[in-house]
This record gives sequence, C-alpha cells and structure tokens, in this order.
Amino acid sequence: MSWDFSTPADFQHQLDWMLEFVNDTLIPLELLYEGLNQAQLDTLWAPLKQQVKDRGLWAAHLEPEHGGQGFGQVRLALMHEILGRTELAPEIFGCQGPDSGNAELLAVGATEAQRERWLYPLMAGKVRSTFALTEPDTSGSDPTGIRTRCERDGDHWCINGHKWFSSNASVSDFTLLMAVTDADAPPHKRASMIVVPKDTPGMRVVRDVGTMHHPYHADQGLLMDRIGGHSEVLFENCRVPLDHMIGEPGDGFVLAQKRLGGGRIHHSMRMIGQCNRAFEMLLERAASRHTRGRPLAKQQMVQASVAESYAQISMARLLVMKSAWTMDTQGPFSKAARLEIAAAKFSVPNILLNVIDRAIQLHGALGYSTDMPLEAMYRSARALRIADGADEVHKQSVARLLLEDVAAVEGHPTEHIPTRKAQARTQFQQWIDSLVKA
Ligand SMILES: Cc1cc2nc3c(=O)[nH]c(=O)nc-3n(C[C@H](O)[C@H](O)[C@H](O)COP(=O)(O)OP(=O)(O)OC[C@H]3O[C@@H](n4cnc5c(N)ncnc54)[C@H](O)[C@@H]3O)c2cc1C
Repeated sequence: MSWDFSTPADFQHQLDWMLEFVNDTLIPLELLYEGLNQAQLDTLWAPLKQQVKDRGLWAAHLEPEHGGQGFGQVRLALMHEILGRTELAPEIFGCQGPDSGNAELLAVGATEAQRERWLYPLMAGKVRSTFALTEPDTSGSDPTGIRTRCERDGDHWCINGHKWFSSNASVSDFTLLMAVTDADAPPHKRASMIVVPKDTPGMRVVRDVGTMHHPYHADQGLLMDRIGGHSEVLFENCRVPLDHMIGEPGDGFVLAQKRLGGGRIHHSMRMIGQCNRAFEMLLERAASRHTRGRPLAKQQMVQASVAESYAQISMARLLVMKSAWTMDTQGPFSKAARLEIAAAKFSVPNILLNVIDRAIQLHGALGYSTDMPLEAMYRSARALRIADGADEVHKQSVARLLLEDVAAVEGHPTEHIPTRKAQARTQFQQWIDSLVKA
C-alpha cells in the first residue's frame, strides 16, 4: 500500500501562515514572557489566540461536532510539526497538553450533560484541566497497580490516594482522575475515570515538583516558563457527586487509552518541529563559525553531524507521518495504528535528543549557555523518553504486536532448511524446467 501525506492547497496555505506566525511572532516572544503572571500572560495571549480563531485553526484536534476542525491526523501532524517549534504555540492554538488529550477523552466518553459542563468550556479555552494517573508509590508503567481508591458513599464518590506529575493541577479547573473502584475486578476493569473540580474539599495540591526542565530554587521557587507545573496531589476523603464519573465503573483503562493515541502522535510531530529548529541552528553555526581559517562546515566531522541529523530527522518525520496516515486510514485505535504510534513514541525523543546535542556541541560554550534556547530544549526533550510511557514500554508494545502473528518454529531452525528447499523446488519446478528448456 502506498502512503499519501498530501494536503489540499488551501490547507497548505494555512500551514504557510502558521510557519510565518510561529517564526516571526511567537518565537521572539519566548524572550519576553518569563516572569509574567497569569493575568499578564492572558492579556498578552488574547489577541494572538484571536488571530488563530479567526483563521479557523483553534483547537483543531476534535471533530466539528465537539468544537474542533475535523482535520484528521495527517493534517494535524503537518500542523504540529510547525507548532512544535516553540512550546508557546500549542497554548496559542488551543491544543496544549493535557487539555487536548482530556478533550479527546471527554468527547468519546462523556455524556452530553458532562460535555456541556467540562468539554465545551475546555475547547473554548475558558478552563484548564489535569489528567491524574501516575502515583509516587506505584509504577506508572503498569497502571493496573494504582492504589488511589474511589468508593461509593451514598450519592457521592469518596476518593483517597496520592498522585504526582499531575500536570497543571495547581492551576487547572478540573482533574480527570483515574482511581480504583473495584480492587477485585480483572486488572483492566478495576479503575474508573472521575472528574474532580478544583477546590473540592479533600483535594490538596502539595507542591509543583521541581524537574530538570523547571528546577526548584530555594529562594525563587520553581523556575517556570509556562503556566502550571507537574503537581503532587493528595486526595483525602475527597467527595464528588456520582454524576462526575465518565463512562461506567471499570471503564478507566479504555478511556485512558482513548486520550493517549492522538496525544502521543501530536507530541511526536511537535518533536519534529523541535528537531527542525535545532537543526537550523546547527546549520547556521556550521556556516558562520570559523576555526583554523575556515568555517566549521568544511570539517568532515561537522559534515557527519549535519548528514546524520538530516537523515535521522527525515526518518523520524516519515515514521510520524506514517502513523498519522495509518490512524486516518485504518482507525486511530487499530492494531496497525497502535504499532506505528508506539514505534514513533520511543524513536522520536531519542532522535530529538541526538539532534539538540549535536547543535549544542557545535555551538561550544554558547550552546551550553542559557543565551541560546538549546539547553532548555534539551532539558525539556529529556522528559519525553518518560512522559506518556517510558521508551521501554513502547518498545515492548511494538515487539508484542509484531510477534503476535509470527508462528513459532518447532525444533532447531536448520532442521527445516532441507524441507524448505524441497518445498520451494516443488513450487517452482515448472518455472525452473521452462527456463532450462529455453
Ligand atoms: C514531564 C512529565 C509530565 C507528566 N505528566 C503527567 C500527567 O499529566 N499525568 C500523569 O498521570 N502522569 C504524568 N507523567 C508521568 C508519566 O506518565 C510517568 O512518569 C510514566 O508513565 C512512567 O511511570 P513512572 O514514573 O512511575 O516510572 P516507572 O513505571 O517506575 O518506570 C521507571 C523506569 O523503569 C523502566 N521500565 C518500566 N517498565 C518497563 C518495562 N516493561 N520494561 C523495561 N523497563 C521498564 C523504564 O526505564 C522506566 O523509565 C508525566 C511525566 C513527566 C516526566
């Protein structure tokens, strides 16, 4: 089957506008917005968001009936490749995580009344949301082991547990929480998805966790260049009404999967945007920095850096585009799509880290300094080998899916060679005879 990543001319026109907008308006703003508070940021972003809305590009990840644009994954991938150039762009285009993934979950799992309450305000950019699955004391790579409990108590659910890396919980309006409702059920039917609105008594954000990307400084607190951090959250007898459950009790895993496919592929495409940006800096430096009387670009080892980066980015891009195309043509949750998404999810972050690392290397001390964006890009990219599933987990999924249909060969493989030769001979004997005769 041949792959088709082509896009209509009118959408190409939109992509051209996006590239110009991101490069000329958003990237320069990166230098200005650090240290601004939420109200100042909202004021700064509002006219930019309006431009995006006016062009019909706002919150493009859902179907029109849920307030999105219905672009399909190939067009979204082409779009995210551009938006990924700066961490600012997803916010301005209304498709930032975790809100976009949460919207996908609510679109498929929520009732119309729940959509009215949580999905549509989210799509309109009026509220923010959190997804809380990972816990400090259990392995996020095996969510069947989560311990947060959600028990029915009259006309409420009562939640007790400990989550962390619940991104944006300190600033969001509601949290989509995954908690165990039936510990005795089969592993993938144990958990459910519950909405916990902000300020619900019993829900307490302990702190935003300092990370490699947003380190904690004793005198300044978290050094943030974005809204919200990765929060540690305690739930202590936290009660929400029964109608705050999305889907049925036990649907938690199915719903969690619904939010992850699209999110992972958009993450991957945004990483291609980061790759391209780092690569452009690498090329510029190679052409402009002189050593031993000639530009770095004339040094063979630098040329190897350029060539390897180009080849890796192209391979990564094709893999992500193929994933998007497979989602569009065979369904976002098909086996083929799951295979491609998982393959992209573990390969692209590693390629991104390689490319940024080479760009830092070529910039020497300047690349390592905070005068350039490269060091922050590197720190941010490192999270992507862990967030949304560690590399190892996705490699395991790829291998499992590929090996599922391969029949095991009994005995030592060499025992089969004579039989296979004989079978081939029988199969092609007529053809061989005709060749011999001719
Ligand atoms: C920046 C960032 C944002 C995040 N945002 C959110 C969020 O919004 N909501 C949320 O719920 N979570 C979030 N997470 C958490 C993320 O999903 C988990 O960190 C991830 O699933 C891994 O879980 P864990 O940290 O418990 O690591 P563990 O499951 O303890 O795994 C630790 C390591 O063990 C190895 N490993 C695990 N399983 C296997 C295996 N099968 N084979 C071989 N090796 C293995 C891997 O090297 C892995 O990195 C975020 C994480 C980061 C870094």
